[in-house]
Amino acid sequence: MHRPLRPRIVPLTTFASLDLHPGLLKAIKELGFARPTPIQTDAIPHAMAGRDVLACAQTGSGKTAAFLLPILHKLIDRPRGTIRALVVTPTRELAAQILEDLEDLAVHTPVTGASVFGGVGMGPQERAFRSGVDVMIATPGRLLDHLKAPYASLDKVEYLVLDEADRMLDMGFLPEIKKILRYVPTKRQTLFFSATMPGPILALTRDMLQNPASINLERQSTPATGITQAVYPVAQELKASLFLTLLQRGEMEEALVFTRTKHRADRLFKFLVKNGITAERIHGNRSQPQRTQALAGFKNGTYRVLVATDIVARGIDITELGHVVNFDVPMAPADYVHRIGRTARAAATGDAFTFVSREEEGELRDIEKVIGRRLPRVTIPDFDYSAKADTQLEVPIAERIAAIRKQKAEERARAKAKADRKAAGGGSPAPSRPARPASHGGSGTTAGSKPGSSQRRRRRGPGGGGGGGRPGGTPSK
Ligand code: ADP
Ligand code: MG
Repeated sequence: MHRPLRPRIVPLTTFASLDLHPGLLKAIKELGFARPTPIQTDAIPHAMAGRDVLACAQTGSGKTAAFLLPILHKLIDRPRGTIRALVVTPTRELAAQILEDLEDLAVHTPVTGASVFGGVGMGPQERAFRSGVDVMIATPGRLLDHLKAPYASLDKVEYLVLDEADRMLDMGFLPEIKKILRYVPTKRQTLFFSATMPGPILALTRDMLQNPASINLERQSTPATGITQAVYPVAQELKASLFLTLLQRGEMEEALVFTRTKHRADRLFKFLVKNGITAERIHGNRSQPQRTQALAGFKNGTYRVLVATDIVARGIDITELGHVVNFDVPMAPADYVHRIGRTARAAATGDAFTFVSREEEGELRDIEKVIGRRLPRVTIPDFDYSAKADTQLEVPIAERIAAIRKQKAEERARAKAKADRKAAGGGSPAPSRPARPASHGGSGTTAGSKPGSSQRRRRRGPGGGGGGGRPGGTPSK
């Protein structure tokens, strides 16, 4: 099936054999982790021994515990009160997720953590700096905002983690990372994680790491095993109804579905809701409370479908999620691997369906090249593949331009009529004309979407960006 991997003799490693603190072993047990994943087996001994680590591992391989466990182990018996470990990660969701993992793993230890990311107030995060939590988990932009203030210092950082480095590169965070490095002591231990190693990332590792232990490089871009991948060839304008059909026929109970643009995410979301499917959406234009709420609601089953754009594709950790649907073919093959990594994390298995229109065939072939095999094509019986679309997720560009032109012409005409009226001394009414002709018909698409009309603020968990102090108390599982 997959490109043959070099056979690996894996000695049977247990968490106990990694010499971790008993408090950590207890938490690991409570989390139900039977044994370390390969990346954990490989990385933890090096990290425990104080070496820098450069790890290239696919999504869902268990990287978070691979860096948190050795750091927690080293921080347990230390005096508290200064930030000793810094984890830099690309998105708010990842920061919140890592803090949750930390809280679970550190529950029987005195180690504290807090997260710092944009979209929420600076105040509680400032407190985390002032109280000096042990582990700070941050997105680059917001961290730099804090670093401008006198209360924020990273002078005492001994452990630095870069999580999803390639993602940060994609998001344009490389300059921020370099700036952050100026605030962190050069004498430190660095753990560096990236799913892929493009040139700029490799260069960054040379700047940041000293004689690192390199791990797992040979498996960089094959998806997690256990995923059943299939391609659904379908005309662009029929994608929404194909998706709806799959849901209605029970082909998938719940699904995380990725669209190419925010606009398409919004339209698909509305289409689903209109057709009686519980759904939410998560993308760059949504506020942090909205994102948190959507993700929590999807996790707890309130929503069957979570529509997302690529920006949030990594790091959403939904245990035993059944299905990922690529509503559009991801532009970059690496994105495909990351997205479908959302399923089949660690032990669970899941399906990944990709909808492919004729125009996207080329991109699909690139993906197949990267994963080293041809994906099976699936057509579903009784679906009318030649139907005329009743839903269009985007107004064709020509139509959109025509509509804008028409509107502008009308505005000009109205302005002129008004001016004429004024010139005529306001006496006689202007010749009557339709105030606003019926809008362009057809697709039912209007520009702009109503912001957060159904904003239910039922939030738990990471929210608020974490204040200082011992988080949580009891483990949430
Ligand atoms: P990555 O950062 O590599 O994408 P995560 O660290 O988020 O992956 O881990 C993916 C999932 O696997 C999480 O739900 C995590 O709780 C779980 N997990 C991590 N380590 C183990 C383990 N040793 N055994 C079982 N599940 C694990
Ligand atoms: Mg991760």
